[in-house]
Formats: sequence, C-alpha cells, structure tokens
Amino acid sequence: MKGENLWEKVLKEIKQKVNEKIYEAWFKNTKQIALLEDRLIVEVPNPYLGELLEKIYSKIIKESLKKLNYENIKVVFSSKIDKEKEIKGEKIKKVSINKGEVKGLSSRYRFENFVVGKSNEVAYAASRAVTQNIGTVYNPLFIYGGTGLGKTHLLHAIGNCLFSKDQNLNIIYTSAENMMNEMIDALSSKKMPEFRKKYRKVDVLLIDDIHFLQDKFVLQEELFHTFNSLYHLKKQIVITSDRPPWEIKNVEERLVSRFLGGLVVNIKPPDFETRVAILKLKAREEDIKISDEVINFIASKIKKNIRELESSLMRIKAFMNFYKKEIDVEYVKEILRDYLDAAKENEPEKIIEIIAEFFNLTKEDILNEKRTKNVALARQIVMYFLRHYLNLPLKQIGKILGGKDHSTVIHGIEKVEELIEKDEIFKENIVEIERKLKWI
Ligand code: ADP
Ligand code: MG
Repeated sequence: MKGENLWEKVLKEIKQKVNEKIYEAWFKNTKQIALLEDRLIVEVPNPYLGELLEKIYSKIIKESLKKLNYENIKVVFSSKIDKEKEIKGEKIKKVSINKGEVKGLSSRYRFENFVVGKSNEVAYAASRAVTQNIGTVYNPLFIYGGTGLGKTHLLHAIGNCLFSKDQNLNIIYTSAENMMNEMIDALSSKKMPEFRKKYRKVDVLLIDDIHFLQDKFVLQEELFHTFNSLYHLKKQIVITSDRPPWEIKNVEERLVSRFLGGLVVNIKPPDFETRVAILKLKAREEDIKISDEVINFIASKIKKNIRELESSLMRIKAFMNFYKKEIDVEYVKEILRDYLDAAKENEPEKIIEIIAEFFNLTKEDILNEKRTKNVALARQIVMYFLRHYLNLPLKQIGKILGGKDHSTVIHGIEKVEELIEKDEIFKENIVEIERKLKWI
C-alpha cells in the first residue's frame, strides 16, 4: 500500500533475527524513501553499506517481506553519494585497462603472487618450465581443475613472464569461447585466411577454458590444424580446462590425443595451509589489516574455491573502509553469512561421514535402519553433534536420520550426554570426534 512505511516493518522483523550490535551498525541508519508498485527504495548512508546489505542480508530481507505479504517487492538501496562514486569508478576503470593489460593479459596475475602448495605445485612447476623452454618441454601443457582454483592465473602468469623476457614474442591469450566468436565473424565476413594466419604465426598460444569446445566441431577442426602447425614449428601451446581432456564430451579423438601428447596436470582444491597463505598474500596486496584468528576462521570455512576466499576478503575490506575499525570473528560471521550458510548445508553430511569413519562404518550404515549396537550408538552420537554442534532442531535431526521421531532423538542425545558423564574413555572419543569436526 502506498504511503505505508514498509521498511520500518521489515526492520522490526530483522531486529529479531540479527544480533544487536549488527543491527545498530548496519540497519539503524537506513530509511524508506519510497514504496512503489514493485520496489521499495531504501536510503543508506553510503553505497558500501547498500552493497553489503544486498549481498549479505537479501535472504533475511526477502523472508521478512514474504512474512509481511510483500513477496513481490524488490528492495533497492540508494545512497546520496552513489552517483558521484559511479562517475569516479568509471574513470578508475579506464585508466587501469590502459596501463595494466598487455595483449589481453592482466598484470595482476603473475608467478610472484601465485601461492604454491601441494594442490597446485605440479601445475606451477610445469608452467614455470614452459617459460624456460618454449615449445620444447611440455607441448601442449594442459592444466585442468575446478573453478576458481588458479588456472587462468597461471595462464596469464606464463604470458606475463614470457612477455617481460622478450617483448618481441608473439603471444596470444584468448578463451575458447572468444576464439569461437572470432571464427564465426571470420566465416561470415569471408576472412578465414586472416583468422588462420593470426593463430598460426604465434610463438605462444594460451587458450583458456577449452572445455567450451564440447560439441563445437567446426572450431575443433580449426584448432586441430592450428595445433599441428604450431606443434611442428615448436611453438608453445598452453590450455586450461575445467575437466581432463578425456572427459570433454564430443571432442574428436585426434584432438584429444593431441592434448594428451604433451603434459596434462591437475590443480586440486587448496589445503588449509595454502588457503591461509593465499588469504595473507591477498590481505597484504589489498592492504587489509586482519588478525590471524580471522584469517584462520575464513580458511577453515571456505575451502573449495579461491575466488570465494578472495571475495570474502573484499567484503571485509568494504566493511572496514566504512567503519574504520578492527574486525573480529563475530563480525566476520555476519559479513560472510551467506557463504557460511551454504557451507553449513553440507555440514550434517560431513558430520555423519566423520563419525561413520571413526566407527569404521559407512555413511549408509548410519542412515539406514540397521540395529546392531555399534551402529545405534554411532547414530546417537550423530544426533548429539547435530544438536550441539550445528544447533539443528530436533525435528530436522530426525528427518536427516531417516524419519526418527522427536522422542528417539531426545533419547539418543541424552544417552550420549549420560555416557560422557560416566565413561572417561567414551568422553575421550567424543573429544576426538570434536577435534576432527573443527576443520570441516
Ligand atoms: P580458474 O581460472 O581456475 O577458475 P582463477 O585463475 O580465475 O581460477 O583464480 C580465481 C582467483 O583466485 C584469482 O583472483 C586468482 O588470482 C586467485 N588464485 C587462485 N589460485 C591462487 C594461488 N595459488 N595464489 C594466489 N591467488 C590465487
Ligand atoms: Mg578461469
């Protein structure tokens, strides 16, 4: 309803859900500017805050709107200085493009700021080797791994390193998708000879995200000939992909065997120490002053994707720019709330896995109906941890464990609590499990 102060009602809901300190700092100075047909415009003191609220609290805000029967309203944060910032941001962007990029390469990604750990040391060493012996040691070098693990970074690092050694080298960095678009343009404007020439006269060809080739037979054909020609001339080819060559579907045999003809290396998710080292390096680069405790906390929660580690730091930076104060774990939990929620969704499963492993059982043993004494106890320990470690409601615990009722769950948890009181060895086991859980 127009004229209504909907945001005030939303704030009341939010106040019940977030901690007081956070409410004071983040929500108190916001106010409704207008309620339109489909939008609620809310004024925030500065654009950082708008961005943070959008990223971190959109779920809670949506839930509150739903509760108030305003499901279809979108909240838009607006700040008086938004406009000013926009103009400035534009200028900054333009300068950095002119200065920082050489031949499509970003100078941000170098070997010097690539943290090496067990998960990526082989890929790193191979990339380095390529820069010392172009076209001869590993050709092509094929780097594969999940998203956000540093493939593009390494590819740029190779290009930057070679370019800094020899500015006359003809280096092309491109993505398979980009190549595809270029090829389509070339085909439609009858410029295929130019397209071929461009790629066949390079000294170093760096192609990102080659998995894009899946099903694209015409591009595959083109690439196959380009590869052959470059290979015979001892020109270097480096390729990245989100999966190994043999798992890219519908790619011609002969192209796959070309990929396999060089060196295929894998980048895996980083271990805890590497995550900590990456966070420290990025914090230094971005001049963000945070404690080791906070770094360890983030590294223990965000595990699979380095891009997410980075963006969590950027959020923290935005927060610190705004509040000009040190940040502690409690704040970090709020700022990274949505990442942590996503991680939490997987946690029950991990808890079950860890406890199953501890008792030499499988996850299925715990989830199924088996009633041997050992399994029953393991299951009760799972109940205990789901309750005390994740604070899950009893009903949900019952559901996770295949529809156990409320009283079974309570009984299970009490049984474990009783044993902890009475039995020293049992207690030690629980402490040991707890220790293992700390790092999930
Ligand atoms: P991918 O191409 O594998 O999806 P990127 O190379 O784009 O991943 O990496 C995502 C982000 O993480 C980039 O900003 C990159 O600088 C950073 N990154 C990845 N691995 C490392 C590492 N080992 N050391 C430092 N930064 C890294
Ligand atoms: Mg990439």
